[in-house]
Amino acid sequence: MRIVLISTPIGFLGSGKGGGVELTLNSLVTGLLSLGHSVEVIAPKNSKLYKSNEKAKLYFVEGEEQISWQHQNYNSLVSIPDNSLLAGMLEKGLEIAKKADILLNMSYDWLPIWMTLNVEIPIAHIISMGSESSAISNLISKVYDKYPYNFAFHSKIQADDYSFIKKPTIIGNGFKLDNYTFQDSIKGPIAWVGRVAPEKGLEDAVYVASKLGEKLNVWGVIEDEDYASRIEQSFPKGTIEWMGFLSTYELQKELGKCRALLNTPKWNEAYGNVIVEALACGVPVVAYRRGGPSEIIQHGETGYLADPDNKEALLSYLRIINVIKRKNCREWVEKNASTDIFANKVVNWLNKVINEYK
Ligand code: UDP
Repeated sequence: MRIVLISTPIGFLGSGKGGGVELTLNSLVTGLLSLGHSVEVIAPKNSKLYKSNEKAKLYFVEGEEQISWQHQNYNSLVSIPDNSLLAGMLEKGLEIAKKADILLNMSYDWLPIWMTLNVEIPIAHIISMGSESSAISNLISKVYDKYPYNFAFHSKIQADDYSFIKKPTIIGNGFKLDNYTFQDSIKGPIAWVGRVAPEKGLEDAVYVASKLGEKLNVWGVIEDEDYASRIEQSFPKGTIEWMGFLSTYELQKELGKCRALLNTPKWNEAYGNVIVEALACGVPVVAYRRGGPSEIIQHGETGYLADPDNKEALLSYLRIINVIKRKNCREWVEKNASTDIFANKVVNWLNKVINEYK
């Protein structure tokens, strides 16, 4: 299959601004290449793919970024800036996809989904968030009436936000296992990884660390400076250890030394890449039973699931975290979330989409 991928219109690949989509795209490219498919990627200027993905052709587009939907009101109007990066990537993608089998869109935005109704080229969409915009959800519903197979989701619970979709395609996610080293360090610090923004609920993890009288190591892009400093000021000085945004290689090296990862989403987290990355290093995860984490974590086997927003439950699970065998964590990823498993699910789905156009 010849597949053209459109990246997120927020941040270049490698910047961290695009969140989990950056890693998902790279994992997918790895998996598709290893299955023998041809892959072309349209991405913002300065984007980098993994070195091992060099067989994929990368096209750069310049332009103004979109505003992330999770930081707008649910009923906000769709806005497209002058010299739009998204429009530029779509234009380039459509041009190349004339000679390809399918255009695969990974941006959560209105324009590429609308385009599905207006071109002959099959456009498939990996929806990377729960419902964050009424305009986008309504459009998905409209496109779904004509093309019922063109949408895939990372988890069942994410797809529940789009209840008009009868039998949603669930593709999970994939991780290049050689990028993560297993470490058996049961005495390490506690970790939190993610974009520092309100939907990620960092404050609840800091609360747990402060109750334990420990530091919380925090990795990720600080997306919302005010939010970050508000949290910092609400807890004893030094509770948060800001570790910055690291490359996957550096991140896994540090993360693997930790005894647990806390994951505290306040929204319907579509998947939660950081959970699987921690598990791949052998780090058990304590998370809220909300969104993707509730489908990934095997309660009592690879970590614990606490009732949403129950910080005391997080705390009590963290106190018994060493009961979890770190080897179970790594094994779960090997059996359920490798790049090959992920790419196979995506290819099966894309074949269905292509057949719909025949
Ligand atoms: N991440 C990273 N370096 C860091 C912190 C985070 O590369 O120092 C990446 C991490 O690998 C993951 C992404 O940031 O792929 C966060 O994705 P997730 O699915 O957890 O949440 P999202 O940001 O998509 O809501």
